[in-house]
This record gives sequence, structure tokens and C-alpha cells, in this order.
Amino acid sequence: MSIKIGTIQGINIKLNYSWFIIFVLITWSLANGYLPSQYPDKSSNFYWFIGGASALLLYISILIHELAHSTIAIKRGLDIKNITLHFFGGVSQINEESSDPKTEAYMAAVGPLTSIVIGGILLLIDYIIGANLPDTVEAVLRYGGYVNVGLAFFNMIPAFPMDGGRVLRAIIWNRNKNLIKSTRIASNVSNVISIIFMLLGFYSMFTFGTLDGLWLVFIGLFINSASKMGLSQTIISEALGEKTVSSIMTRDVKTVKPDLSIQELIEEWFSVYKHQGYPVMENDNVIGIITIEDVRNVDKNNRGSITVRDVMRSQEELVTVSPDDKASDALMKMASNNVGRLPVIENGRLVGIITRSDINKTIQLSTEFAPTTHN
Ligand SMILES: [Zn+2]
Repeated sequence: MSIKIGTIQGINIKLNYSWFIIFVLITWSLANGYLPSQYPDKSSNFYWFIGGASALLLYISILIHELAHSTIAIKRGLDIKNITLHFFGGVSQINEESSDPKTEAYMAAVGPLTSIVIGGILLLIDYIIGANLPDTVEAVLRYGGYVNVGLAFFNMIPAFPMDGGRVLRAIIWNRNKNLIKSTRIASNVSNVISIIFMLLGFYSMFTFGTLDGLWLVFIGLFINSASKMGLSQTIISEALGEKTVSSIMTRDVKTVKPDLSIQELIEEWFSVYKHQGYPVMENDNVIGIITIEDVRNVDKNNRGSITVRDVMRSQEELVTVSPDDKASDALMKMASNNVGRLPVIENGRLVGIITRSDINKTIQLSTEFAPTTHN
């Protein structure tokens, strides 16, 4: 969904495709709204050129904000692979949770701090010498100032996983020493904030009869889904930690032969055992996997003549894991391939099977009975 545009300090900088659409929209709205109101009686070339330059400046500002997060993360020993710029801003893909509340707080706070410093400097320059500069330069300078101050305030909203919400989580975490509990509390606060945004949006639409309030509704929806995703990410990475596939998988795998008819498969396998899917074996090799969904699509009258081989997910589309892979990676593989079970293969041989419900059970057990604590 994104393209790489370069590397800074070993971090890949990527652009999400949605960025291009939003870039045009921002340029358009600046050229038709903000700029003509601030600098009347200019040519349309001026508005479009300054609009484009300002939109670019907005994204450069977001990139600097993200780089500030990454720099602190790297200094504190966390692993950062990518920064992706997309339509609501930027996301630094940090591959692990902070190990302590202080790291989390520093890392989160440095973003808005950087933005407010940049914004303050630009506005100060504009204030002191802006009148002597050409309008083209002055317009971009002032917009850059506003945008950075705006970025700082927007990110300081205490809604997890935005920066303000991360600082809030770090403060709670520092008190209760429990990352998952703190994330849950921070996430509940986010839900309240997201509802406030949506209510304000609807209120403004009904009161003023314009669609401007729609932005607030969108921001509310964005905060709501981001906080749910952030919470489940934290729970998964904390609960699974360094657990490997081999520690969770089922070793004694029941397999089926490819020439079995669907009728036999239903009567002798699905009706007898509780499993929802089986690897298909031929000459000691896994050649596919068949699940209850594949069988559902077979017409009742053809179940005697159609075989497992005809409807199984074949080897080319088969997704597998190795026993040494991390369980959290296996879960990601299942999610991105939209499957519920993965055969575990070692040196070309089937050694087990791991399912989504196996992993969910592990997550549930470890969050209920052994809350992870940090000092
Ligand atoms: Zn940030």
C-alpha cells in the first residue's frame, strides 16, 4: 500500500498511496480557501504554487516530527524499520513496545515538542522580518508556523495511540507497573475523547448547516479505531512476547489424503474430530490444506465425486511457518492471508499445526493469570 522514497538514519521513509490524493486535496483547499483570504488579489498561479509548496511543507513537518520520535527510540535501544506518511500524518513503525514508562514518555513527548519549537521559530522569523520578504516566501513561512503549532496541539490530545495518549499511558504505567492495564485505561480515555469529537462534529453540522463538522466526525472515528488497534497490538505483543510457534502448536497432526471424496471427509473427519481443517499429505509431503469453508462451497449432490484435491488450498497458495518463528509473526501471517490455521514445516516435513484459537487461548491465559509487570 506504500512506496519507499528514501532512507534516513537507516530508517525507510515510505509514502502511503492515500497520501497523493490528500496532497492534491490540501493543495486545492489552500489555493481556493486559505490563501485567497490571506493574500487577496494574487494570480491563480500564485495560489496554486504556494498551495503546493505549503502542502509539501506540511509533510516535511510531519516527517521531522516522526524522525524526532525515531531518534529517541533508537537512542533508547528500540528497533525502528519504517516511517510511513499517510493521510492523517505519519506513523513510525516501532517493532517492540517500550521497555519502561520513561522511554515511552520521552519518545512520545519529543514529537509535539519538536513541532512546537519549529513552529515557534518560523512564526518568530515571520514576525520579525516577514514584512520585508516577498509574499511567496512569507506565505509559506507563516503557513509552516501555523501547521507545526497545529501538529503539536493535535498530537497532544491525550488519546492513545497519539503522542498525548502515549504520555498519559506512560504516567499510569509508571504508577501501576502494568502495561496492559495502563493501555486499557488509556484506550478507554481515547474512546471518550473520540465520542466527544463525533458529537461536536454532528452538533456543528446541525447548528451551522455546513459539512465542516464532518472533519471532527472523521477524526473521532480515526481515534476510535486507532486506539482499539493499539490496545490489541499491546496485548498481543505483551502476552506472546518471545513465545515461539513450537511452544503453542499442536504436534500430533491429523492429515488427510488428496483422493478422499468430500463425502468421506465429512463423515470420517469433520463429523468425528473437532478440527476445522486438515493438511493434505501425499508421499510424506504437505501438498495443501482443506478447511470446513472449502467443503461448504461444494454442492451437496457432488460430494461423492469431488475429491479433497479438487477443492483444497494447494501448495502454491499454502502459507506455512517454521517452529522457531515467533508466535506473534504467525498470527500476523494468518491475519494478512486471511486464514485460521498454518501448517508448521521444518526441513520440508510437517511437524505441527498452529491455529488462531491456539494463539488466542495463549493470549487469554497470559493476560488473565500472569499479568506482565515491569519495573
Ligand atoms: Zn507524534
